[in-house]
Amino acid sequence: MSETIFRGGTILTIDPQHRVLAGDVATRDGAIVQVGGSYTPQTADYTVLDCAGCVVMPGLVQAHVHTCQTLARGRADDLELLDWLRKVIWPYEAALDEKAARAAGDLACAELLLGGTTAILDMATVHHTDQIFAAAEQSGLRAVIGKAMMDADDPLIPPGLRESTRASLDESAALIGRWHGAAGDRLRYAYAPRFVLSCTDELLREVGEQAKARGVRIHTHASENRGEVALVRERFAKDNIVVLDELGMLGAHTCIAHGIHLTAEEKQLLAARGAHICTCPSSNLKLASGIAQVPELIAAGVSVALGADGAPCNNNLDGFEELRLLALLHKPRVGPRALPAPECVKIATLAGAAAIGQADRIGSLEVGKRGDVIAVDVTPLHTVPATSPWSQIAYAAKSCDVKHVAVDGSVIVRDRALQTLDIHEVRAHANEAAARLFR
Ligand SMILES: [Zn+2]
Repeated sequence: MSETIFRGGTILTIDPQHRVLAGDVATRDGAIVQVGGSYTPQTADYTVLDCAGCVVMPGLVQAHVHTCQTLARGRADDLELLDWLRKVIWPYEAALDEKAARAAGDLACAELLLGGTTAILDMATVHHTDQIFAAAEQSGLRAVIGKAMMDADDPLIPPGLRESTRASLDESAALIGRWHGAAGDRLRYAYAPRFVLSCTDELLREVGEQAKARGVRIHTHASENRGEVALVRERFAKDNIVVLDELGMLGAHTCIAHGIHLTAEEKQLLAARGAHICTCPSSNLKLASGIAQVPELIAAGVSVALGADGAPCNNNLDGFEELRLLALLHKPRVGPRALPAPECVKIATLAGAAAIGQADRIGSLEVGKRGDVIAVDVTPLHTVPATSPWSQIAYAAKSCDVKHVAVDGSVIVRDRALQTLDIHEVRAHANEAAARLFR
């Protein structure tokens, strides 16, 4: 038995009563055993993390990222989505080899963990998804990962990414066999058809069926960009979400990135099916895609999560940056009370956990849940004086304030130092691989 004790912080539980408590959060053998009060270790094998001056809270959950794209950070600025994909991202992904994929995965996992993100829903590229799983496995991050599926007969998809329907499904099945439930169920698989335009109807229908049969989640993009929405309407004479529904892809096990350009009917359909939207504020701004109507989606009954998307469209994987933007972005249009701080913190944690199908295990600090816990130092001057911890976390704190991170009760970041990967090696490998790919 081993215990980890986050000692003496202000605790945002994100429990059903949204309680704020004082004291310790303790885990034993990976699960939370006490929240609040003073904890006395039950064994000789325990680690104490000093959390004086910290807000202790569940780790951030980012329900839409592309860790494999991290080496293209800064290489695809000032483009809109379809050009961004066709001119830079697809050629980049086609050029990735195993070594570069691993370097990208390591860089992303290290950045995410140091910034207080403890779980992700990740869309890899068409090939080398084992390398992304291996990076998540070694880093200690909780990850639901899927290979990107792209079997459409589109001449703009580079040959290195084009695949047959059969090969796409077979490779997904093989990855499920190798990784779904691995690392003590810290790693899981999600089918990841890239978006309707890069897939055949046959593939999407099969994914819908196999996901249900295997109990695996679906992760895709939809209605991110006006050009994309127009092309979907051209091909199907229907709206994007309706197409996904008719192909059997829409359910409570589905997480859709973006969902910016949606009709009222599409919002209602998402709510009726229990599907999740992951909003990505920085990416949506940088690619000039638009602003998702998050307050309206929530009012319609849609569960909304938060994600940074990829390094080449953000350009960070910083969960606190996304949290602040989420909290700010909707106020000019809807009013100053749109998405108050506690709601935004819940979106960045528990709603993310729901979007990856793990709200029963993570996303809040409650006895019995997995020990995915972070301590955020709120003594730096930009968060002083201490007021409401909700306000500090949503509006003032930064990812560099994250002091300690545990996943499954294992200490991954201690006093701002990553314990699982050598960040000097991660940096060197990333620079080397990026220079090689872009030469
Ligand atoms: Zn994306």
